[in-house]
Amino acid sequence: MRLFKKSADLHHWLKQQKAKGKTIGFAPTMGALHNGHLSLIEASKKDNSITVSSIFVNPAQFNDPKDFEKYPITLEKDIELLELAGCNVLFLPSVSEIYPGGAPDNEHYNLGYLETILEGKYRSGHFQGVCKVVKRLLDIVQPGNLYLGQKDYQQCMVITKLIELMGWKDSIKVSVCPTLREADGLAMSSRNMRLTKAERENAPAIYRTLGFLKTNLEKGNLLPLKRKALEKLIAERFKPDYIEIADASTLQPIDEWNGKQKLVAVAAAFLNEVRLIDNLLLNE
Ligand code: AMP
Repeated sequence: MRLFKKSADLHHWLKQQKAKGKTIGFAPTMGALHNGHLSLIEASKKDNSITVSSIFVNPAQFNDPKDFEKYPITLEKDIELLELAGCNVLFLPSVSEIYPGGAPDNEHYNLGYLETILEGKYRSGHFQGVCKVVKRLLDIVQPGNLYLGQKDYQQCMVITKLIELMGWKDSIKVSVCPTLREADGLAMSSRNMRLTKAERENAPAIYRTLGFLKTNLEKGNLLPLKRKALEKLIAERFKPDYIEIADASTLQPIDEWNGKQKLVAVAAAFLNEVRLIDNLLLNE
């Protein structure tokens, strides 16, 4: 695996590879890698001649500075895992490499309502920060295929929107890969490393509650079902930001279901200090 720390070096090398007819797949990450991340590498390897991954803990997307400080870093192990997965290139930039002069405040992406709901509502500025870094990474790598995880459902929609806004729709194809889970259903996440033993035992309740919504979904008024799900999460010692049933393609909350619309259940909730998110398609 080749390792690049400088954007210009990576950009130049990839340009040479593209000139030789190679195709580029890209899976950006914030490190502390697990099998969910590695599934993106695997998907990219199937479709492309060169698979690029990046590890960059993006300060611009943390609305809570404590969350940034405590974000797990396991770089040596990450490099080992990427090598084993057959990743061809790792981009490992410093903060000043990505944001010379600091992350700009005057850069704004028009994400519309997507930024005002769910993660956008509870993590103010988060998606602007995501766009800042993804815009820069895509500028540098210019991949033909971009691999994202369904685990971050709203983020997939935001990045798809960013690609539209930048006019890159015809050159970058987004592939959304399924959420990888632990045996007990907990969605794999770098933040799971921060859970205590007791919290870890409790954590799959978020997935069970999404499953409860799926099992009990019926045409008509969804409000009583959503209320029950919220109560269930609270009874399992979570402090929910939200648990919502939404239109799977727009993320607009749905209170009255016509029995046909494709739905996704999305949840974000704290277990003490650690905020977990998860989602489940309800009628695939
Ligand atoms: P992160 O390092 O958390 O920023 O995630 C990097 C990429 O991995 C994002 O596209 C995530 O959606 C994806 N990802 C994170 N967790 C999972 C998972 N459990 N299954 C599949 N993809 C995931």
